Amino acid sequence: MAPRHQAPRGTRDLLPEESARWRWVEAQAHGVLDRYGYGEIRTPMFEDYELFARTSGESSDVVQKEMYRFKDLGDRDLALRPEFTAGVMRAFLEGGLGGRSRVHRLWSMGPVFRYGRPGKGRYRQFAQINCELVGSPAPGADVEMITLFVDLYEAWGFKDLTVKLNSVGQPASRRAYGERLRELLSPFGERLSEDSRRRLEQNPLRVLDSKSEADLAVLAELGARLPHMLDFLDEADREHWNAVLAGLDAAGVMHEVDHGLVRGLDYYTRTAFEVHDASLASQSALGGGGRYDGLIEALGGAPTPGVGFAIGLDRTLLVLQERGLAAAAGDTVCVVAMDATRAGVTALVRELRRRFRVEADVEARAFNAQMKSAGKSGARFLVIAGEEEWARGEVALKDSKTGEQKAVRRESLAAELEARVSRQESTT
Ligand code: AMP
Repeated sequence: MAPRHQAPRGTRDLLPEESARWRWVEAQAHGVLDRYGYGEIRTPMFEDYELFARTSGESSDVVQKEMYRFKDLGDRDLALRPEFTAGVMRAFLEGGLGGRSRVHRLWSMGPVFRYGRPGKGRYRQFAQINCELVGSPAPGADVEMITLFVDLYEAWGFKDLTVKLNSVGQPASRRAYGERLRELLSPFGERLSEDSRRRLEQNPLRVLDSKSEADLAVLAELGARLPHMLDFLDEADREHWNAVLAGLDAAGVMHEVDHGLVRGLDYYTRTAFEVHDASLASQSALGGGGRYDGLIEALGGAPTPGVGFAIGLDRTLLVLQERGLAAAAGDTVCVVAMDATRAGVTALVRELRRRFRVEADVEARAFNAQMKSAGKSGARFLVIAGEEEWARGEVALKDSKTGEQKAVRRESLAAELEARVSRQESTT
């Protein structure tokens, strides 16, 4: 019989095998974030629509086409979060964090929602890790953020990552740059995509990160005549930019300038960065971030600088899987009982589960059926509670890794397993 329901378009289920990989990725991230001294902040999955409209910009794709906006039964205008930063900053202000200390290091992890066209690495519900360093305007804060960004990927097994970087300056210099772009691009009006013709009016910088072939052809034709945002930086921004580059060099973080990396919204300032992977479409970033010194003020707070990033976990896992990088599951112990030992084995299994992953029969199946399941399960350790050994206070322990099988006293079984697992951990 065909199932009556399917997961909504653009969403998917993570079945146990896949969610195990996710949990590994999340656990690695928790370790890195903890070692960097970041604290977790959890905010609601929906907020007032206005919050996102104000922070993402009315002209952005997210607001115009991708928001899951809805009215609740009390007629409130709400939206599922399309990103974390707006909600985190709202919570920062509402929770009065700014008054408690100057610099805050925050992270969040969870689902975000965008009504885009689904495809490889593009979903309508996807997960992000989001980090923010709030309160410091110093280039060292940008350097810490980018280093943390890269160290998360390294903890997942990515090597030799190069971060793409640009500076988007200040709203005034960006406007001057936008004017120049408009002048240069307007003569191509007819050849630009519809979206870009609109962007040319509202926010010309966004033409630079267009994905349309027509737009890319125009940009290629302009080639060297196209000025760079870096040419428009004022002195203070240039100094900040140079200090960030020097800091990344000192930290050993590989980076390259990407003049096409622009963020048009008014609260973005100075540093912008992204990481891509060749296995995804060239426009599909694995993650990205930047400085947003104007955001908290735009939300009604005192002027407070900040820098942050978001990493897409779905895409990260796709790449990890394609490269075979995600970690193997840990060791499992499979316990096989006989009729006469079944009752006693229940307590043994419970005790072992305080430390190990243990599989055991719940259906009082025959010994042979249990052995067959154990063979299929891929468990590393097999513990057989045979009648005679059990009567002597022992069980048989088989380690499929070494092929060794021996009798072990029941009271020393946990210690014996522990020793084998930690011996393996220290050699890998
Ligand atoms: P953004 O806020 O657009 O810079 O997105 C941050 C990260 O979220 C991206 O680099 C992607 O890894 C991920 N991401 C964005 N949109 C999607 C999507 N529709 N499906 C899966 N991941 C996404």
